[in-house]
Amino acid sequence: MNIESYRQILTKYWGFSSFKPLQEDIIRSVTEGRDTLGLMPTGGGKSITFQVPALAQEGICLVITPLIALMKDQVNRLNELEIKSIAIHSGMTGEEIDNALENCIFGDYKFLYISPERISTRIFQARVARLNLSLVAIDEAHCISQWGYDFRPSYLKIASLREYISDKVPFLALTASATPQVIDDIMKKLAFREKNVLKTSFNRKNISYLVRKVDDKGTYLIKTLMKTGGSGIVYVRSRKRCKEVAELLVYNGISADFYHAGLTDELRDKKQASWTTGETRVIVATNAFGMGIDKSEVRFVIHWDIPDCIESYFQESGRAGRDGKPAFAVLLYTPADKSRLLDNLRKKYPPVEKIKDIYEALCNYLQVPLGSGKDIVFEFNMYDFVAKFRLPVIETYNSLQFLQREGYMEFTEEINNPSRVHFIVSRDDLYKFQVANESFDGFIKLLLRSYTGMFSEFVPINEEALLRKSAATRETIYQYLVKLSSLNIIRYIPGKKSALVIFTEERLVRKALMISPDNYLNVKEKYEIRLDKMIGYADSDTHCRSVYLLDYFGEESDRCGTCDVCRERNELELSKYEFDLILDEIKSVLIEKNPDAEELVKLIDYPEDRVIKVIRWLLDHNKILPDRDHKLTWNS
Ligand code: ADP
Ligand code: MG
Repeated sequence: MNIESYRQILTKYWGFSSFKPLQEDIIRSVTEGRDTLGLMPTGGGKSITFQVPALAQEGICLVITPLIALMKDQVNRLNELEIKSIAIHSGMTGEEIDNALENCIFGDYKFLYISPERISTRIFQARVARLNLSLVAIDEAHCISQWGYDFRPSYLKIASLREYISDKVPFLALTASATPQVIDDIMKKLAFREKNVLKTSFNRKNISYLVRKVDDKGTYLIKTLMKTGGSGIVYVRSRKRCKEVAELLVYNGISADFYHAGLTDELRDKKQASWTTGETRVIVATNAFGMGIDKSEVRFVIHWDIPDCIESYFQESGRAGRDGKPAFAVLLYTPADKSRLLDNLRKKYPPVEKIKDIYEALCNYLQVPLGSGKDIVFEFNMYDFVAKFRLPVIETYNSLQFLQREGYMEFTEEINNPSRVHFIVSRDDLYKFQVANESFDGFIKLLLRSYTGMFSEFVPINEEALLRKSAATRETIYQYLVKLSSLNIIRYIPGKKSALVIFTEERLVRKALMISPDNYLNVKEKYEIRLDKMIGYADSDTHCRSVYLLDYFGEESDRCGTCDVCRERNELELSKYEFDLILDEIKSVLIEKNPDAEELVKLIDYPEDRVIKVIRWLLDHNKILPDRDHKLTWNS
């Protein structure tokens, strides 16, 4: 197939007329059967790079992604486009998973989405070999690296898939954020047959990065939002602060609302929709706000609190200016923020014995006997857990994170599982039942009218929707379902909202629980390095912000000219170009010798007033240092 036919698929299903940068290259690479790592910023259009090749080829594409909510969202979208897709995740029963896999083997499904911990289950391994796979896509591929900021041990199992599938099936790894070290690690851990990285620039030229050192963040925010127009996001750290800041803005006449994971799904959807349409101008949110944002005209992203790594900051601030028009990414920063981050670092690494205590408490809480538990999924209510065992919340949370990093277990975010219904009698028997039990007739008809496929598998239903369609009350609908279930006509799984914990290893005795000091210190060190880089970004007033961020991701670039550091330089009324030329000369002189300022001016072959400006700027920013005799040295 040539690229033109891929483009036709793009247009046929998605209505887009052309590919975005790099999409074409990635598609070509995987359709040639090559393992490929695709790096594109958030919103760059990564999904298309596995969806189009999968549609162009026979067989089914396996997509591995860590976020269950995102997975459901994508599957829904594909199904709306009439592309048969299915998801398998820890929230499903064994029977449902079994059915889904059978469907993939015998049905004409194009996409199978799974969460990574499925891979190590026997039921999956037994069946994956029978799938006619076209491609394995690994989304959020940075999760495979212990160097990354969001390591998930179950990602390490992905390479083992190669044992069960044809070696002709290429792997496509995708991520929006990876440092050079993580990039290498991804290819290694996925057992790439050859190195193959395709990368777009991470340079977001239309975003001006600003760091504002302000003590009164509230006043700054109000002033700025009154001065500038457009819609945007304010990121804060805590749910409580979320509400407070939104109220502060509203009180000052700025249209604002708040958003965090503690709100009901309906409320969150409503708030997000009203921000997307522009009804709400500013959304004040925790980092729970981000998934599935599809709004291109975001004029600013302001961080009230500093994140703990560049990856998070870059991803969150990158939601600004997707339309390519000028936008701002502002970080509000005070010395107190730095102390808080460093303080968090201490809390983030509880003593090893404490981590072991919490491991044992958790096993007891979930009633996991020694030697068992592997690959078992439990529902988990963190608040109930800490309350029952009288544990400190933050330390417990971080200990659990640590156990996750060590590979003993994994946590998933809260997921909303809809209720599900499966008819376990044949159509004929159901008909006989309806005739004999007239009181159920209306309800059964309503079910059959509203949903299809219930005779062959579990089908998600929505009690609210049924309620609206019938004259019944909520209780009667529920009673009908329970009654039919106890009469063995249907199987009914009530929906619920829950977080899950998955044991990736059997429960071990305390002694055997290896939290090697090496590993512990190693992870801590990596975290410290990332933290340092983030603090460095905020603290520095000599590095172009954009250059600093891009350098972190291993990309060279020119000064942006629009961040706060560059702006300050611009105020010297020198062009960026001229400034750099003079700076280079000064630097090369000072590396050779140590003149005082007056001598230095004479040594530089540019108009004196300009040279003086640059020297003054360099002195102000400690790039050159005078000694006691006013002799200057270059401070590298
Ligand atoms: P990512 O996973 O890289 O963050 P997505 O795959 O979610 O990005 O795509 C981001 C947005 O870009 C989506 O709204 C998608 O429909 C849109 N998009 C993807 N490819 C194209 C294209 N070729 N032309 C126009 N829009 C596109
Ligand atoms: Mg994506």
